[in-house]
Amino acid sequence: MRKLKSKNIYELDSERLATTDEHGNRVYLYPEEAKGVWKERRKFFYWFLISVYLFLPWINVNGKPALQVDIFNREFTFLGSTLHGVEPVLFFLMIASGLFFIAFITSLLGRVWCGWACPQTVFIQTIYWKIEALVEGSARKRRELDQASWSMEKGVRRLVKWILFTIISLHIAHTFVGYFVGPRVLLQLTTHNPSENWGLFIGTMILTAIFLLDFGWFREQFCIIACPYGRIQSVMMDENSLVIAYDVKRGEPRRGTVDRAGEGDCINCYNCVKVCPTGIDIRRGNQLECIHCTQCIDACDDIMTKLKKPKGLIRYASENELNGKPRKTMTLRSGIYIGISLILISAFAYFLKASTNLNMVFLRSNIPFRVIEDGQIVLNDFKLKLTHQGSSEYKLDFRIKEEVKGEVSFITPSRPLVLNKPEVKIIFFFRFNRDFLSGGTKIITVEALDFNTGKILAEKEVTLVGPSH
Ligand code: SF4
Ligand code: SF4
Repeated sequence: MRKLKSKNIYELDSERLATTDEHGNRVYLYPEEAKGVWKERRKFFYWFLISVYLFLPWINVNGKPALQVDIFNREFTFLGSTLHGVEPVLFFLMIASGLFFIAFITSLLGRVWCGWACPQTVFIQTIYWKIEALVEGSARKRRELDQASWSMEKGVRRLVKWILFTIISLHIAHTFVGYFVGPRVLLQLTTHNPSENWGLFIGTMILTAIFLLDFGWFREQFCIIACPYGRIQSVMMDENSLVIAYDVKRGEPRRGTVDRAGEGDCINCYNCVKVCPTGIDIRRGNQLECIHCTQCIDACDDIMTKLKKPKGLIRYASENELNGKPRKTMTLRSGIYIGISLILISAFAYFLKASTNLNMVFLRSNIPFRVIEDGQIVLNDFKLKLTHQGSSEYKLDFRIKEEVKGEVSFITPSRPLVLNKPEVKIIFFFRFNRDFLSGGTKIITVEALDFNTGKILAEKEVTLVGPSH
């Protein structure tokens, strides 16, 4: 815990992280909440995201979950449509195109995801910070409470805070599980005895513990140490990327370092440091720990307004803009990222279309053919496997393509065949005169038709075999 020394506790050591002391122990942060235009914008956006996140798993569209990723049945449901048997290749393309799209956004707008949309930031700043402030008071009071010895008041405040954190974490964990199991199971999980589904119950409790520890205690450490995106985001950015930056030319030399007459606009009030959730001093330049949350912009704008100076000493700007050069909106790097993302999305769309189409496979039985009726009639036995990954339900009939109609017939127990599952197998016999074959084989084409409209939905070539003489 950072000790209250006579020296300014916000003057950070340049040799180590703001969240680590000289012995490598964690320094707890007590960020103040900034007020201002950016805070209002983020608040609006955060509550929109929280509403979507918390309510989406409970909503049904056309009798199906609004969004469900059913891992066990390999089904993906979105706004009433279900993709069955989702293939790993589709999943890979979806994830990879998303990652390159995030890389594209990062190259343009820096770490905008972290500050504006990451659940870590959204939940901590909107809910956990509020609970903390309600129960333990302002940043200064929280720091004092932490440093005070244990007392009844400290114990009660801590207990109430962690009970409220646990309630919220339980709700977030249940909602998260809902995205995988759907609203019906989610309701059961919420209202029934845990013994009815121990596996899911234990999984949800583990998730609750993870959210509780992360959002309640680990916090900025996750962004600084554990988040893979946080580690690699700097390689996606360049001097044209928009970041949250301190205008050195305007701010320096800061107050207290030179004569009053020669100082810049920064009055060294440290308000930008006091509000920073990762504890950094943005005046030291763009840093890996900055999650682009805009808190320091509001804090500094507030000071500039009071000093009757223009806002924006800390603002969104690219390195080029700060150096007086124009900012290129689209760079080669951004173009490559969005180009790869579009290629992957196109591949996804192509494979999706191919996989949602009706597909027929004829699987020959162990006995290639049987001859009946004094050797004149030949039978070929197959299993017909019908698959599709889309949400359509098919009512099918079959026919053999025009050229050989009449010379060969087929027998199948299901006509029309209702295909309402991702995969159906049926028995399929072909019957034909042995003279129909040439050299012991003949290739025919079987068509699957929409039973009501007669539209051809799929066709497949089948090789018929029989005696060669
Ligand atoms: S430096 Fe500013 S934008 Fe970056 S994390 Fe700290 S407060 Fe947020
Ligand atoms: S809030 Fe603005 S004026 Fe105060 S220390 Fe930070 S940059 Fe300087």
